[in-house]
Amino acid sequence: MELKNQFDPDLRKIIKNQKKAVIIPVGSIEQHGAHLPISTDSDIVTEIAKKTADRCDFLLLPTISYGVSFEHAPLFNLSIKGSTLQKMIFEICASLSKNGIRTIFIINGHYSNQKFLQRLPSLVKRQTRGKTRVFVFSYWHFMSQRFDHAGFVETSLMRAISNKVNMKKAKRGLVTDVLSRRKVALLNKLASESFTKVTKSGVWGDPTRATRRDGNRILTETVRNLAKTCQTCLTEKNRKLHH
Ligand SMILES: [Zn+2]
Repeated sequence: MELKNQFDPDLRKIIKNQKKAVIIPVGSIEQHGAHLPISTDSDIVTEIAKKTADRCDFLLLPTISYGVSFEHAPLFNLSIKGSTLQKMIFEICASLSKNGIRTIFIINGHYSNQKFLQRLPSLVKRQTRGKTRVFVFSYWHFMSQRFDHAGFVETSLMRAISNKVNMKKAKRGLVTDVLSRRKVALLNKLASESFTKVTKSGVWGDPTRATRRDGNRILTETVRNLAKTCQTCLTEKNRKLHH
């Protein structure tokens, strides 16, 4: 159920009577190679959040499409500071709390947003005196596949949910399969400072074999695991309240 399609007195009744949890998807606008649109992270996280909301009967909020992507310069990125992202979502959560929302799931779709979202659960808890709880999840932690950037995983996911993928332009980028864990960790660290230092084309992984079928498989797995975790958070919360 999408929040933006609701009407006012009905929406307040729904919140009051059904005690719905909400999902806030958070994405980014940044280069994803020549074959995927700059909206890729926002597109994927929107779809995953929508499917999770449907499955769990949560309210889906509009996606926050701007994220922290400075590390992709000089390739295209439209970025806001981490402190701005944190503050904006904090204020949205405080406002949701005033409207009677007691559980908020923030589903993140971009790696560098992560560390700025982490403090939100404790900040919101303090602000609302424990009335509203926030959980933060990055969606790629809910798939068995190793994640990439504009590589096999993201390209497959995009083929499954979007018609904007240009496979003719898909080119193999940085492939880490044969590298040691230590080396990959080192590259990861370097990439979080400057992505083009580890891959000139801005592609991490190999998108050339990405298929719609793989995308659907990864999508199904991710939504199933994520929905399960969200439900567990809710039951744990209820159990605590009843004791
Ligand atoms: Zn991405």
